[in-house]
Amino acid sequence: MNASLFARFMQAAPADPGQPLIERPGLPPLSWQDMLEASGRLAALLSRLGLKPGDRVSVQVAKSAEAVWLYLACLRGGFVFHPLNEGYQPAELAYLLADATPALAVCDPAHEALFRTLAAPGCSVLTLAADGSGSLSRAAASLAPDSTVAERQADDMAALLYTSGTTGRPKGAMISHGNLASNATALVGAWGFSPADRLLHALPLYHAHGLFVGLGCALMSGARLLFLGRFDPAAVLAALPAATVMMGVPTYYSRLLQQPGLDHEACAHMRLFVSGSAPLSPDTFHAFRARTGHALLERYGMTETGMNTSNPLAGERRAGSVGLPLPGVELRIAGSDDAPLPAGGIGEIQLRGPNVFSGYWGLPRKTAGAFTADGFFRSGDQGVVGPDGYLSIVGRSKDLVITGGLNVYPREVEILIDSLPGVAESAVIGVPHPDFGEAVVAVVVAREGAAPSEDAILSALKQQLAGFKIPKRVFLVPELPRNAMGKVGKTILRERYAQAFA
Ligand code: AMP
Repeated sequence: MNASLFARFMQAAPADPGQPLIERPGLPPLSWQDMLEASGRLAALLSRLGLKPGDRVSVQVAKSAEAVWLYLACLRGGFVFHPLNEGYQPAELAYLLADATPALAVCDPAHEALFRTLAAPGCSVLTLAADGSGSLSRAAASLAPDSTVAERQADDMAALLYTSGTTGRPKGAMISHGNLASNATALVGAWGFSPADRLLHALPLYHAHGLFVGLGCALMSGARLLFLGRFDPAAVLAALPAATVMMGVPTYYSRLLQQPGLDHEACAHMRLFVSGSAPLSPDTFHAFRARTGHALLERYGMTETGMNTSNPLAGERRAGSVGLPLPGVELRIAGSDDAPLPAGGIGEIQLRGPNVFSGYWGLPRKTAGAFTADGFFRSGDQGVVGPDGYLSIVGRSKDLVITGGLNVYPREVEILIDSLPGVAESAVIGVPHPDFGEAVVAVVVAREGAAPSEDAILSALKQQLAGFKIPKRVFLVPELPRNAMGKVGKTILRERYAQAFA
């Protein structure tokens, strides 16, 4: 049997391919047939460009139906989809393109010249604009759609998604067709997706949440996508009466709560709101329930593993807990020696199952270090499982900041700040923020005699980093707190600046 995720999606396709698949406000609906033809044309184009199964396709484009078709064309042709955050700056792109070695890069027309300088010789560059125009669509338009689906094994790579590393260098997580198919199947079951559903999709497509969880649930169940180009609270509120399910990061829900129109009536047609990618505060959970009557369903996952746990569809959705392991997911709480802790112990969440990725692209030593001897993935998250099996995440052993649902590894920002003129050293931390959950904050020590300003530091960083990684504040201090081993006391700094956005 063909283990291609695309083949799996086609098993869920409605009998009538004229059924809508993507609906966008103010635009005609796009059907499964439209998807089949467009993805078939793009797959034909990619083959004609000389791409072979396993070749990477790096994509930095605005969210659009055509971007979805391109992802599906990659699945269909056996090419590896490598999405790039739209906010990435040239230095970030240069690293990622050099590491992923794509055979094709697709970018916004405004960035074509940049991509041509960054792409290695032999890598084709095509463009795709937010409205679907560009050289990619032009080149595909005259081709006959490829009607085949490339034969794939379950462990063949479907996508390469980079997660920032503790060393400051992003690592490419190799995610297989089998990983994605098993996770989407588990989620469709756990969350009760059916062809009657309309998923309000306001998440970006460059992150696992919008790409795999959102698209995966809809395409694996024959549901429709109510597609919004980005998260805009008023537009989401206006779309809710036509939707049945929404997925979002906690910031979406706290921003929706600021909309006076969010009430029981606005959500009357909805059956489910899912939250994930960052901790959902109990305050948001309770406020949302009071305003709408809906208990947000919080789940826990990561790029490397897909979704691991979820609060139940039927049964108690508990504030502050990420619920129970999904079918097929083995989860244990382990001590520093990787041995499972006795019930109720707090330790590292470790994961094993068909959802777990195979390793980091080109980094066999990092991959080996990420897994235990018995094949569990070390998540870097700290958790505790209650007597009834509900998991709570209590912290992160990795030095990660999650801001608005997007991950920032402090090391990457610190390296850049430390290289600026007048800077002796820096520490980057996350502190509580009412809108973003956590905000990136930089604490900077100036070189003797120098006085770098907050503005100068921020404008230098903006040239090199995507917006979500830029500190919301820079504090200049005479020295950083250090422990006896010389390690910067980030806990002390987090406490010191905890009220910065209160
Ligand atoms: P990413 O790879 O960007 O999906 O980020 C994965 C990380 O986000 C996890 O390792 C957790 O630290 C965090 N995360 C995801 N979902 C949740 C959640 N529901 N609660 C707390 N942290 C979460």
